[in-house]
Amino acid sequence: MTKIDDLPVRDELRGQSPYGAPQLDVPVQLNTNENPYPLPEPLVARIAERVADAARQLNRYPDRDAVELRAGLAAYLTDTTGHAVTKDQVWAANGSNEVLQQLLQTFGGPGRTAIGFEPSYSMHALIARGTGTAWISGPRNEDFTIDVDAARATIAELRPDVVFICSPNNPTGTAVEADTVLALYEAAQAAKPSMVVVDEAYVEFSHRASLLPLLAGRPNLVVSRTMSKAFGAAGLRLGYLAADPAVVDAVQLVRLPYHLSAVTQATALACLEHTGTLLGYVEQLKSERDRLVVALRELGVEVTDSDANFIQFGRFADTHAVWQAILDQGVLVRDNGVPGWLRVTAGTPAENDAFLGAVSSVIKEL
Ligand code: PMP
Repeated sequence: MTKIDDLPVRDELRGQSPYGAPQLDVPVQLNTNENPYPLPEPLVARIAERVADAARQLNRYPDRDAVELRAGLAAYLTDTTGHAVTKDQVWAANGSNEVLQQLLQTFGGPGRTAIGFEPSYSMHALIARGTGTAWISGPRNEDFTIDVDAARATIAELRPDVVFICSPNNPTGTAVEADTVLALYEAAQAAKPSMVVVDEAYVEFSHRASLLPLLAGRPNLVVSRTMSKAFGAAGLRLGYLAADPAVVDAVQLVRLPYHLSAVTQATALACLEHTGTLLGYVEQLKSERDRLVVALRELGVEVTDSDANFIQFGRFADTHAVWQAILDQGVLVRDNGVPGWLRVTAGTPAENDAFLGAVSSVIKEL
């Protein structure tokens, strides 16, 4: 049987495994930071209507520039952040992973480098590898905040072309202060200048405001967002960015023509019409997240402060054994490979109760 390494694949892909959390069929799945609430029925009906309209024109290519959708996303950002954003500042793609890939195809690539502060979202490094961009793993403090002085020094020394800042950070849940972003942006401009990408996939769950207003007067800053989490539409595959209009022009140099299908655009527009209801679910998830933090601490479990729809908890001498013991109780959480720590996504109240029950019995055995 032919194996991957028998093929003439690029050297940097040899021996690697594809990214992906285990998709196990267990009763309570709290491992991929999904929104546990299915889309409400009136929205499902609206999607069907909009998709039917799109289907009548599927003989034609979709709107290549997704203008109506970008205008809708710009209005959503303006309404929720109070910072005026226009459609010329917004770009959309199939999930924010594709947005990040397009950014690295545009601003990274062979001979260029990107930095992230780890532990963080591991796809940043993997998309760097996939685009031939060298990766630098930057430092974090013990409490998982970014070590600003160390980060500034690393940027000054290694002069990366792209700086990733994930806020709230996956897998730790840590929000990043605006002052930290400003300090790193200044350092990155002095060193190169380079692009600074703030990944706000989970920002709707944060106790703090979005960093989006920092875009004003900073053409090398990008904020990336997704409909996979707060909008509860991970299956839709819709991510987007906000930045200076020049950044939107630049990513169009690498995007595939007609990359966003007419079905995707129609579905995303229907979701935007129901923003109010969907953000109501976000409020429920935020209070469930906060309940989980308190309950875990009451059980004597260590928890990193969370601004996301997930919580990092620990510390365990044998992380994998604890992960397995929780799984044996029918609850799937995530082992992100951060020594001592696991991650759980906030689910419905019943799912969270099942998780707390599992943890409470597992730690008694430790
Ligand atoms: N950024 C972060 C920090 C994430 O955790 C994820 C998904 N797990 C993404 C981006 C990508 O999400 P999507 O491609 O579904 O928009």
